[in-house]
Amino acid sequence: DDDAADTLKMFEKVVRSGRNLAIMAHFNHPAELSTAAVKEAIHHIRATGAQIRSQSPLLRYINDSPEIWADMWRKQVNHNIIPYYMFVVRDTGAQHFFGLPLEQAHQIWQQAYQLVSGVCRTVRGPSMSCTPGKVQILGVSEVAGEKVITLRFLQGRNPDWVGRPFFAAYNPEAIWLDEL
Ligand SMILES: *Cc1c(COP(=O)(O)O)cnc(C)c1O
Repeated sequence: DDDAADTLKMFEKVVRSGRNLAIMAHFNHPAELSTAAVKEAIHHIRATGAQIRSQSPLLRYINDSPEIWADMWRKQVNHNIIPYYMFVVRDTGAQHFFGLPLEQAHQIWQQAYQLVSGVCRTVRGPSMSCTPGKVQILGVSEVAGEKVITLRFLQGRNPDWVGRPFFAAYNPEAIWLDEL
């Protein structure tokens, strides 16, 4: 756009001040990384010294396969973008169309993560941005003979919640934290 040069100058100014400038890019599918326009935009932003990190929700019909995510993370790393978050579709109007059960979200996450090398594994997920914080699904486990979903806070309103595994009763249909 007309103001791109001004925006890039501002990015340079922030970087020169000694701060880390991290742009959260929102790519939902590897196809979005294939155009000349996106390559040019990434090049210009990176040339200012800003970092680009990437996040996307896991979307039914759009990117609900491990291969798509692995391909997307590899392409991002080749563009010097840092894979950052896989989000669970949040509670907006289209959640029931695009959303996936949390157990399935974790399976896609885990299979995708297993396909990529360490440089792609800067990504965290699947994560729900909820009122109390960001809650990551760690998987399905068994505690004292009971099937549970293991979770942890990546960010919490109370800092003491962060990094402690906790459990919810298993519900194969839940698509959001409040259904656990
Ligand atoms: C969490 C989040 C970020 C990144 O914040 P961090 O503190 O780096 O985790 C950016 N955008 C959205 C929408 C987020 O939920």
